[in-house]
Amino acid sequence: MKQHNSNRDLRVVVLGAGMSGILSGIKLLESGYRDVTIYEKATRVGGTWRENTYPGLTCDVPSHAYTYSFEPNAEWTRQLPPGAEVQEYFERTTRKYQVSELIRFGQEVTRCAFVGGRWHLETASGLRDEADVVIAATGVLHHPRTPDIPGLKSFGGELLHSARWDHSVALDGKRIGIVGNGSTGVQLVSALASRAGKLKHFQRTAQWIMPVENPSFTEEQKQAFRDDPALLKRMQNDETYLANVERFTTAVADATSPEIATIEAIVLENLERSVQDPVLREKLRPNYRAACKRLIFSPDYYQAIQHPSAELVTEGIETVTHKGVLTRDGVEHELDVLVLASGFHADRFMRPMQITGRDGRRLDDVWAKRPHAYLAISIPEFPNFFMLNGPTSPVGNFSLIDVAEKQWGYIAQLLDLLRSGVCTEISVKQDSLDAYEAARLAAAKNTIFASGCKSWYLDGEGVPASWPWNYARFREVMAAPDLSAFERTPARAV
Ligand code: NAP
Repeated sequence: MKQHNSNRDLRVVVLGAGMSGILSGIKLLESGYRDVTIYEKATRVGGTWRENTYPGLTCDVPSHAYTYSFEPNAEWTRQLPPGAEVQEYFERTTRKYQVSELIRFGQEVTRCAFVGGRWHLETASGLRDEADVVIAATGVLHHPRTPDIPGLKSFGGELLHSARWDHSVALDGKRIGIVGNGSTGVQLVSALASRAGKLKHFQRTAQWIMPVENPSFTEEQKQAFRDDPALLKRMQNDETYLANVERFTTAVADATSPEIATIEAIVLENLERSVQDPVLREKLRPNYRAACKRLIFSPDYYQAIQHPSAELVTEGIETVTHKGVLTRDGVEHELDVLVLASGFHADRFMRPMQITGRDGRRLDDVWAKRPHAYLAISIPEFPNFFMLNGPTSPVGNFSLIDVAEKQWGYIAQLLDLLRSGVCTEISVKQDSLDAYEAARLAAAKNTIFASGCKSWYLDGEGVPASWPWNYARFREVMAAPDLSAFERTPARAV
């Protein structure tokens, strides 16, 4: 790439101040961008960690791996950090890197249109702005999904969605029902089984559970991390964890691999060893392959569901009544609190924001079949618009921070072309996206996610919406953009 010394002053707008938006702010400041605004609909940073505060919320990625590579944290209290600690880490990091000054809180961007070579934005409160570049860092799982269970409105007790927790609702000694056994439902059961008077866990589909340990870090360990940056760095780049990432992403990318067979053996052994009652064990035994749904990492779910106050209910739900939940066997489960751990609309991304690219091309139309983007980052005819953790982003089950950092490294190289004046507009070519999508869809069919289960990973046509190759390939592809895939205005050699 040729070096251009006369940098243009680009105005960059970032959408969202969650993990990826904070990262964008830090990296933009570090690279000398001065005209940057981050719009955040809420009044605090943190994204998913701000919005999810349910009891038991825990990050199932090891804490030292779930940190920005440039901001290690000696203060993590546990191997798997509680959600509130993750939130605090993001708030602290935002302040430390002076990103707070870039953020306009309480501003939900509702429109974003590319007109006359710039992005024109509008917020719900009527504020208008313009930018040369837009970075969408709006996250994936942020529109809670209410299940299509009849009668929900008739429930006379407290009804909560896991992502909209009301901490004024009393839980101790209460009759609590939890619908859903994804990562969220499982963590809720683990936290509430010993607090509830009676806990009923409504399971529609059994889940495979990967055993995991969650020890606390002792004060001595934390002091050692504080005193020895090299040790802390080694914790972040823990070889066992990194080897697991490689192994796991190889496993999920190939449903016939020996790596997936190993995972299957571990979760099966966990079920057989951990659940004593043979009837309960059979109810908990999934009839599809391990890791087909996002694999659940839990140190204590099997213990929690065997707690004397807990009961696994596998009869289908007929309806919710004023008193509780009526299952198809005619049993009415009376409840004080009903929790919907029913997940999110995973196909929304920046939407319902109205986004239009060149010539009024609407994102809603472009994504009518499925949300898609070249390498999850760029969309044809949406110039200078880049996504972090965009559609088809997740790489295995692992740290989205790492994914976002690698995507940022790629986007930063495209921004350099704009800033140095090599081009004024850049977006992926349609045929490059088509080729990428064809390869992605073909590879997705071989992944474990497509091996015969339902999950939020699957798009409307049942195709897994994730990175279908292994982590090593992700790392390689993100290292440097293949500029021949991009349309640049003006078109010049670089
Ligand atoms: P989810 O994985 O989508 O699970 C939703 C659950 O609700 C499923 O068990 C589903 O059952 C059940 N459900 C939905 N509609 C239902 C209905 N009408 N009747 C009965 N059951 C119904 O949602 P989630 O647990 O919130 O997790 C979403 C994602 O958030 C995770 O996969 C993960 O990526 C992320 N997360 C991460 C962590 C972490 O520690 N890093 C923690 C929590 C969440 P079926 O399986 O039968 O559809």
